[in-house]
Amino acid sequence: MECFDVVVIGAGPAGGQCARQLTQVGQRVLLIEQHETFSRNDFSSATTPLETLEKFNLPETVIGSYWQNLVIVTTNIHQKWESQKPLGAVFDFAKLREFLATQVKSQGGEVWMGCRYLRYIKNHQNTIVELKQRSTGEIIQVETQILVDATGPARAVMYNKKESQPNYLTGTGIEYLIELSETDYQQYSQDLIFFLGHRWMPRGYSWIFPMGNNRLKVGSAQLNCSHAWVNQTQTLRSYVELLLTEYLGGIPYKIINHHGGMLKYCSKLEDIYYKDNIIAIGDAVSMVNMLGGEGIRHGMQNANIACGYIQDYLAGKITDFAGYRQEIRQGYARTWNWSEQMGLSKYLKYSDQSIDKGVSYLKDLSLEDMMAILFDYDFKRLYKAGFKYLRYKIVSIWTRLKLKSNLT
Ligand SMILES: Cc1cc2nc3c(=O)[nH]c(=O)nc-3n(C[C@H](O)[C@H](O)[C@H](O)COP(=O)(O)OP(=O)(O)OC[C@H]3O[C@@H](n4cnc5c(N)ncnc54)[C@H](O)[C@@H]3O)c2cc1C
Repeated sequence: MECFDVVVIGAGPAGGQCARQLTQVGQRVLLIEQHETFSRNDFSSATTPLETLEKFNLPETVIGSYWQNLVIVTTNIHQKWESQKPLGAVFDFAKLREFLATQVKSQGGEVWMGCRYLRYIKNHQNTIVELKQRSTGEIIQVETQILVDATGPARAVMYNKKESQPNYLTGTGIEYLIELSETDYQQYSQDLIFFLGHRWMPRGYSWIFPMGNNRLKVGSAQLNCSHAWVNQTQTLRSYVELLLTEYLGGIPYKIINHHGGMLKYCSKLEDIYYKDNIIAIGDAVSMVNMLGGEGIRHGMQNANIACGYIQDYLAGKITDFAGYRQEIRQGYARTWNWSEQMGLSKYLKYSDQSIDKGVSYLKDLSLEDMMAILFDYDFKRLYKAGFKYLRYKIVSIWTRLKLKSNLT
């Protein structure tokens, strides 16, 4: 039986980054992915701010396109913030994960694609991991000192199939990759466009992101909860098609593929972070932020933090991962909680009119403010727009009172 220091289950951004970091410092690592290729589950729209590329030392080859303008479209408002230089990128999600896996291999690790995790069996200090090679059906066992659950929303290691899981806040998203003529693509090639409001997507938001090579990602995501104002919503597909027919109306396009995925988020970060020598990272511990469903850079950062603890464990400096859990909860719980509250109100509680009004107040915020709100979750910046709203409220109350006193 082959023996490893660490077996990582799931080669998403978190698992790939974790295996990459650990092989870099010389650990014997096996990275397991159930799909044969990364294009098989190319589910993420994968946008990120520019700093992610430098922070994780990512090459140009994993980028589909850069973007430099932010656009928010509601039922009645179209608001754009423009920049002279790139502010972020849209990853080619398949290439990003392929790159991380290739780095793992070039640093001496092993990557087994098309291999499904089945279960673990405890054996004194070590753990036997049972895997199934999907193409042949062969059952393989390996031994490891540490087992990492990086299976995203499946949380396949922390919870066995029969075990019940907590009530998660869940969201579902689908996306079409479409190809346009070069001239038509140029109109959208620099813009990250978000669609809010009851017309475009009442229980979440829709988007159009540039993907390079004259391709756009056109998608829609919704929370699987009821809405305070809208009783019945359409299928996700019909909201994507609304963007194609009404927003991009009349532009000829070819659908290259469609894909989609799910997010499962545990409020208050109450996921299971570790059990003995098993540790969970990325979406398996709700590292996705619920304001906009952004999780790639957070999963990768979470993997970096976890790696420090994994190395300490292997070196015998710690005997459990309590410190890891504490560091993540201390570092993220407050921001994640605020983001969840903001997301839930915006997507499930606002009337269409309030969404229009809210976005019209954002007009006075700078691009820097908007980036800080959307990507650093710096909600204090909203006060600037809030003051204008307050002024509007005071003026309208005062006008009403004045009108009343004139009448009497
Ligand atoms: C529609 C949609 C759009 C999104 N858009 C963005 C965005 O624009 N920007 C952003 O930053 N984030 C976005 N996200 C979120 C982001 O994609 C996730 O947060 C991120 O992929 C989480 O990374 P992860 O490695 O934790 O998990 P995942 O990426 O889910 O990876 C888990 C891996 O584990 C594998 N796996 C699962 N079970 C097993 C098993 N039993 N055996 C072997 N392998 C297994 C899976 O096949 C998968 O490859 C989006 C998500 C969705 C659904």
